[in-house]
Amino acid sequence: MSVEHSGGCVCGAIRFLANDEPLRVTICHCKWCQRRTGTAFGTEVVYKSEQVAFFGETTSQYRHVSDESGRWLDIEFCGRCGSNLGFTLEAAPGIRTLPAGSFDDPDWIQAERYAFLHVYVRSRRDWSDLSSNVEIYERHFRA
Ligand SMILES: [Zn+2]
Ligand SMILES: [Zn+2]
Repeated sequence: MSVEHSGGCVCGAIRFLANDEPLRVTICHCKWCQRRTGTAFGTEVVYKSEQVAFFGETTSQYRHVSDESGRWLDIEFCGRCGSNLGFTLEAAPGIRTLPAGSFDDPDWIQAERYAFLHVYVRSRRDWSDLSSNVEIYERHFRA
């Protein structure tokens, strides 16, 4: 029996279903993720694109080109309430992220069950603590 996790934006206009297990959970401390989320880091549950289906209104997109890599990242969000709905990126074709906080019941997202990778900790905020038993990278594990 395959698992399925649902979620969506705060206004309910956009819903999603994610099938089966995610590849990993990447917690990104880069300054771009701090800005786009408005907080200390982005907590991205990482899936293959075909595992995720959106329902309801179409997601809005904003394309950002990284000043470090020169490659694009397409941020997706609800055009009505502005909720963060993850992103796709040129550097990892076929991959999509969903923010951990956007799931209806995020209790299943646990460091004991999935690989939790903290990346770009070189720009981690002092007030953002790291839990134990996680992988930590100054930049990215792909870099
Ligand atoms: Zn919404
Ligand atoms: Zn980031």
